[in-house]
Amino acid sequence: MEFFYEYEGKILGQGTRQPLRRWGRTIAPHNSAFFCVACGRIWARIAAVPGSDDNNRIQWRVSHLPCKRDGGTGSLYLEFEEDRIADLPQGVLIHELEIALENPLWPEPKFL
Ligand SMILES: [Zn+2]
Repeated sequence: MEFFYEYEGKILGQGTRQPLRRWGRTIAPHNSAFFCVACGRIWARIAAVPGSDDNNRIQWRVSHLPCKRDGGTGSLYLEFEEDRIADLPQGVLIHELEIALENPLWPEPKFL
């Protein structure tokens, strides 16, 4: 299933997200919205490409994280399960690299 990655209104890329196996269960990919707890904005989204398979049945989950303007890093990394790192589009990897370079105290993403 194809998903796009959007950060502050800019599309970073598009890539496949596969179901994950965890705790003996299969977990289907879901849409993610990054909600800023300070200003109330959705500052990033990972969402199924319109028209992709089963698009209507994909649930949304919300991460409550501050946006960059309100002290957050702007990283989408918390939503990335390790098994899916290889499928991340190049634009997302570049975005995360830039964050790592700006934030030397931020934990190094496992894929860099
Ligand atoms: Zn904010």
